[in-house]
This record gives sequence, C-alpha cells and structure tokens, in this order.
Amino acid sequence: DQAKLFLGLDFGTSGARAAVIDQNKELIWQEKVQFSQVPGPQLVTIWRESLFHLLDQIPDELSSQIQAIAIDGTSSTVLLLDSQGNGLMEPLLYNDDRGKEVKHLLSAIAPADHLVQSATSSLAKLLWYSQQPEFERANYFCHQADWLASLLHGGRPVSDYHNALKLGYNPHNLTYPDWLKNASWFALLPPVIAPGKAISRLSPSIANAEKFPKNYLVCAGTTDSIAAFLASGATQPGEAVTSLGSTLVLKLLSEKPVTDLASGIYSHRLGDLWLTGGASNAGGAVLQHYFSSTQLTALSAKINPHQPSDLDYYPLLQPGERFPINDPNLLPRLEPRPENDAIFLQGLLEGLARIEAQGYEKLQKLGATTLTKVFTAGGGAQNLTWQTIRQNLLQVPVQKSVQSEAAYGSACLARSSKSWE
Ligand code: ADP
Repeated sequence: DQAKLFLGLDFGTSGARAAVIDQNKELIWQEKVQFSQVPGPQLVTIWRESLFHLLDQIPDELSSQIQAIAIDGTSSTVLLLDSQGNGLMEPLLYNDDRGKEVKHLLSAIAPADHLVQSATSSLAKLLWYSQQPEFERANYFCHQADWLASLLHGGRPVSDYHNALKLGYNPHNLTYPDWLKNASWFALLPPVIAPGKAISRLSPSIANAEKFPKNYLVCAGTTDSIAAFLASGATQPGEAVTSLGSTLVLKLLSEKPVTDLASGIYSHRLGDLWLTGGASNAGGAVLQHYFSSTQLTALSAKINPHQPSDLDYYPLLQPGERFPINDPNLLPRLEPRPENDAIFLQGLLEGLARIEAQGYEKLQKLGATTLTKVFTAGGGAQNLTWQTIRQNLLQVPVQKSVQSEAAYGSACLARSSKSWE
C-alpha cells in the first residue's frame, strides 16, 4: 500500500523551498535553493530553473507517491507573458513601486477606497505594463505563483483568490468586479479559483521527466505569508499567528472580515473564514539594532518576566507607524535607557508585546473574532522569556508555531484540496 504524499513549494524573497508531507501532515522531506532577487528579465529563468531543480531533488521513491502540489509566491509579484507563456518584460517584484507613475489610471478605473489603490498592488503593475510598447503583444498577465504552476500543468495561468486580491478580485462574491471586466485588457487576467483547488493534472511530459504519477494534480496556490500562516497550526476562528521577524506582523482568523485601509488592515478569504491582520513598523529589527543574537539569548535569560520593568518604550527605528496606531509622525520612545542591559532589553520586549496586544485589540474592535490562542513564528519565536511576557499581557495561551515554513503550508494546501481522494 502506497503512502499519499503532498508537495508544497515556496518562492520567497531570497530563495525557494520545497516540502513533502504525508496524509497526517508529517513532514517527510524538505529542500531549499537560494537565489538572488535582483530585478530584471533574468528572474524568469532563475525561477523556472529553481522550480525544476527542486523537483529534481525529490527522491524517486517519494516522487512516485505525490498526489498533488501547490505553490506560493510573494504577493503582488507579477509577469506579462506572450502567447507561449514566455516573459515579455521583466517581472515586477512585490515591492516595486513604479505603479506610482500610473496613479491617474488607477484612480480612473478602481474605487477610491479599494486596496488596489497602492503603487505596489498587482493592478498598479498591470497598468504600468499597459503603458509599455510590449503590452500590444501580451496574452497573459499573472502572478508569480500562477505562472510557476502553469509551467507544471501546461495550460494558461490560473490564479487563486489570495494572489488575486490585490488585482481587484472580489473574494466575497468570488468574481472580478465590473470595473475590471469592462477594461479593454480584461482577457489577459487569469481565471481565479479557491487556493488549493485542483487546476488540472500535471502535463504528461513533466510527469515522465520527473517520475511523478500521471494523475498528479497541480493545485491553485497562495501568497508566501498566507502559506506561512497555514503552516502554523492555527485553524479555528480566534486563533492567531504573530510573526516576530524584522517587523511585527499579526494575523487573526475570524468569522467576519475587517478592513481599515488607513492602518493597512484588510482580510483574505480562507474558506468560510477570514484571515485578518496588520503589520507594525516596530519589530525584531529594533532588537537587532542594539544587541547581537548571542546577547539577546544571554540577556533574556537574566530577565524576570513576571516583574515588569515599568519602562514605557515604543520601539521604532525611525519615526512613523501604521498599525496598530496610524500616525506617520509617531516618534520612537526608547528612553530613559537603564545601565543594566537586561532591563533595557526587557523594556524593549515589553514595548513590542504591548504593540502586539494593541494590534489584536484593534482587530477585535473592528469586528474580528475574539482572540483565543496565539502561535508564534519568526526569529523571536525561540525567546521563551518574551513568550511569557506576551502571554501575561495577551491573557491567552501563546506557543511556537508547529511549523513555520511557507513550503510546509503550501503542502498542507495541496493536501486539503481533497480532489485526489
Ligand atoms: P525576517 O525574515 O523578518 O528578517 P526572522 O524571522 O529571520 O526575520 O527574524 C529575525 C529577527 O529575529 C531579528 O530581527 C531578531 O531581532 C529576532 N531574534 C533573533 N533571535 C532572537 C532572540 N533570541 N530573542 C528575540 N528576538 C530574536
């Protein structure tokens, strides 16, 4: 009797990763490849080669048991393709803001209070492409994850409602809005299905070359940050994931969607639930500014998390905050600095924990489901002193994410498609 295995691929900002899991979500195998994300037309080749390199690395005895694959990519990383699916112009990366040159086109087509009204949205990038001479020869516009999946199923790129959100797709009624449907270039846009839903079988030539089963399904993907959420173990409304990386990012699973675009708060659909969240400018980068990784560990061990420092810090590296407080002029508060470094660090950790607690309060005030449990991902997740400080403040159980690799989350998405059963 053969095991049923599922493959997830993650295309992040500095490399790609693969994870194979079994039906019980047990991690069986993983691999990674680093690449440089210097903008330019060469990225198309780098991504394609990384995809096939990772597939080639999977041991044959595992490949032959894989039922389905899903791929995540960085949100709002997009491509313009010709009729053969080849890149017509360089891909535009998630943080590329040349869309600011076409702000007038954006405000002419989309509602004023829509989240596509940002220089880095997928729609802003499409409108930028539309002003270039190559646009005349374009057949498809799609996201990084859509394109990578199309290399495997061989059909036209198909998107998912996570990647398509910043293109303007409406996840409430599961359709593109009329203001997009009426655009002259609407036919370039990818059809959109639910993340994890099967797009089609693997193309036969790839199935043969990679020793994959013929009935192997290519599923619609997601974005890298949602894949990381799916990896965490959070599944119920009220469960959240705090990412303690360079910046502090909160995601709370909710029965109702919430939006406050001024604070950068919006919601992704997740089946019948909504993934709400926001990102603060504060975070681990402030800790790293003052202390090395070794110092962080050593000093944290000296902190008594049950005896608050009474310092009232707001740890920012430069003025300006968006979430939970929307104030572009908010000043960092990092004084007075005590002589004892452990107390100083405690003040920083407490300050970040207060921002986290305020963030969850803000989401709940806007209507998100009451917080019941917090999983932690990112570099700060290993710090148990910080975990205790946070738990005291949040008043709900706080634990490390079961898994934090986005590739693992994408593998879970492939497993959840159920089309393979
Ligand atoms: P990103 O991918 O966002 O750059 P990571 O998830 O790799 O970040 O996390 C890096 C951050 O983790 C650093 O900014 C650092 O401050 C923080 N970090 C690393 N070790 C510790 C520790 N022991 N305690 C608290 N924070 C830590």
